[in-house]
Amino acid sequence: MQHEREAHVFIFPLPLQGPVNCMLKLAEILSINKIKVTFLNTDYIHQRLCSHTDVPIRFRNYPDFCFRTVPDGLPEENPRTGTEIGNLLESMDASAVPIFREMLLTAETPVTCLIADGIFTFATDVAAEIGAPLLYFDTVSPCGLWTYLCLPKLIEAGEVPFKDDNLDEMIINAPGMEGIIRRRDLPSFYRTNDLNDQIIQLVLREDEHIPLAQGVIFNTFHHLEAPILAQLRTVCPNIYALGPLHAHLKARLASWEARPTTSNSIWEEDGSCISWLDKQPSKSVVYVSIGSLAVMTRDQMCEIWHGLVNSGVRFLWVRRPGSVTGDSDETGIDQELARGTEERGCIVRWAPQEEVLAHPAVGGFLTHSGWNSTLESMVEGKPMICWPYFVDQQVNSRYVEVVWKVGLDMKDSCDRVVVEKMVREVMESRKDEFLKGAEEVAESARAAVSPGGSSFADMDRLIEEIKTMKI
Ligand code: UDP
Repeated sequence: MQHEREAHVFIFPLPLQGPVNCMLKLAEILSINKIKVTFLNTDYIHQRLCSHTDVPIRFRNYPDFCFRTVPDGLPEENPRTGTEIGNLLESMDASAVPIFREMLLTAETPVTCLIADGIFTFATDVAAEIGAPLLYFDTVSPCGLWTYLCLPKLIEAGEVPFKDDNLDEMIINAPGMEGIIRRRDLPSFYRTNDLNDQIIQLVLREDEHIPLAQGVIFNTFHHLEAPILAQLRTVCPNIYALGPLHAHLKARLASWEARPTTSNSIWEEDGSCISWLDKQPSKSVVYVSIGSLAVMTRDQMCEIWHGLVNSGVRFLWVRRPGSVTGDSDETGIDQELARGTEERGCIVRWAPQEEVLAHPAVGGFLTHSGWNSTLESMVEGKPMICWPYFVDQQVNSRYVEVVWKVGLDMKDSCDRVVVEKMVREVMESRKDEFLKGAEEVAESARAAVSPGGSSFADMDRLIEEIKTMKI
């Protein structure tokens, strides 16, 4: 007879702000449902969570939850920005993976389910070794992941790789995306002559491993991406669409214990921008942020800055330290910029983004189209101006404009005239149209995470399945 074991989920996120943020939200929902969870952070991430959030205290509410840590192998001062992902993974292979494997093999309470980031191809072997089911959690958008999974076919058909030529040519070999995706809407690292490129090879490896998992978790909701989820089911039939997870956690907490914040920021949030927002009229401010990894040049910063000031619209801009490459010195900036910013702008190093997007003064979001940011904007019904940087962001921004119709796609352009025009369109001339579309998407997102909604039901299914998984 099989011995009855306690359900024990081991969660290992990619150690970056976005994945850690949404996997912690999933971990919290599982903990609310009395499932034992071990959450593995790198030292770098954990130390920042401890200094800038109440995460360690918040999770003390859950007696069966625990954090463990591993080194990522990189020197402390390493920037860990977008372009460094390949190096981070390489370094983790040597430093973190052996310790992770040992933790699983020697766990006091045997691990009955492993949830790992979709890019962690090493997880399939480790899960097989301990005999536990593996669920991949792909924290990029499903539409973005689908372009990854189509990569072998796109290469075979000669649609990838390509350089910066014919970027408006439509893509044919990504089923379900016909008539939507052009070359320029594919992940930016497909713009290469070199198929041996580190990131391309990582994606091809991920493509081979995803179908080996017992299921794949997505931070999305059925109504938003039903056609893409149907395509994904052809590769991995068991899909859990649980998002938007930040809203889902709030929905589950409300019935359990009201709690005002669920921030998982690894940078210190500057709350002064909320007091500034409090003084601005309703829907008058465009919020500007390129997330935790993207960077821009000083020239690009100046173009965006001029565009914002010239639009005459109020703006709240997150300038994350290190997000401007090269010379970020602002001495000697145009007087006109300084005056416009003083009159109508607020610049902070890092913002409480969920709170900012929920604020009534915010009417639009100039974003890099990271998947968490996109969902956070959608839940609050805020239209977007998209300036994607890399990975799934080129795909997301295209979907925002032509499929979900909740904003404009500014990709491949960073010109003050375009910025001004798009800000005016979203915030003024086409404001009603975009707000209507955004409010419809917001309603369907909120419905999905409420009792009776699709994400709520998928989460209940996941919880039940985890409780019955046995080694
Ligand atoms: N974020 C934040 N404050 C900021 C900028 C970003 O809290 O000033 C959070 C944001 O709410 C989101 C995450 O950082 O949850 C960024 O994740 P996303 O997937 O959008 O982009 P990435 O940083 O991974 O490129």
